Amino acid sequence: MAAVTMASKKEIKMLTELLELEGVKVVSRHQHKGIGIILEIEPIHEESICPRCGEKSHKLHQNHQYIIKDLPWGESPVFLEINRRQFKCKQCKKPFSENLDFVGKRRTYTKRLAQKILQQVLENDINSVAKEGLVTTEEIERMLKDASSELADLKPRDLKKLGLDEIALIKGKGNYCAVLIDLESSKLIAIIGCISLLQMVQKMLS
Ligand SMILES: [Zn+2]
Repeated sequence: MAAVTMASKKEIKMLTELLELEGVKVVSRHQHKGIGIILEIEPIHEESICPRCGEKSHKLHQNHQYIIKDLPWGESPVFLEINRRQFKCKQCKKPFSENLDFVGKRRTYTKRLAQKILQQVLENDINSVAKEGLVTTEEIERMLKDASSELADLKPRDLKKLGLDEIALIKGKGNYCAVLIDLESSKLIAIIGCISLLQMVQKMLS
């Protein structure tokens, strides 16, 4: 049975503080047994900046509501019902989707969830992380690809100890991602790409 709670002002304030996501507030909380907590959130700002010309736009064109996954609260999975609004720019006369800092476009999870999952994948492997049920193997592989292209643009600073590790993509199939880690801060520096270890060994031997 689903319990739907239109949160009181006090609860909204508390939930918004607990969520710690900048630029949004919690509007309502739904709890579904066996599924988790669903928080409906809304952007605080009524305008957004056009990525083409940099002009502020207030003119709402369309609402686009969908559900993404976030970090769990204790044992409960948390889902966010978000609205990525479309505005129509006065200058360009074209609609654009607003940028949300906490979730990438066309992604089904928050950036902070991706960060946490990637850390877990570094310590384990994809299958055992996927088995926990929060995210699927496809989502983890998408997270790795995104992190890989983001990291490719960054230059590591003050790097003293470099570690090389690999992530098993699919157990027993010999598919690996090579990962570079700053051993002092244990931060991810680069993901070299997903290569078949078997192919690599074959190349080395030929
Ligand atoms: Zn514009």
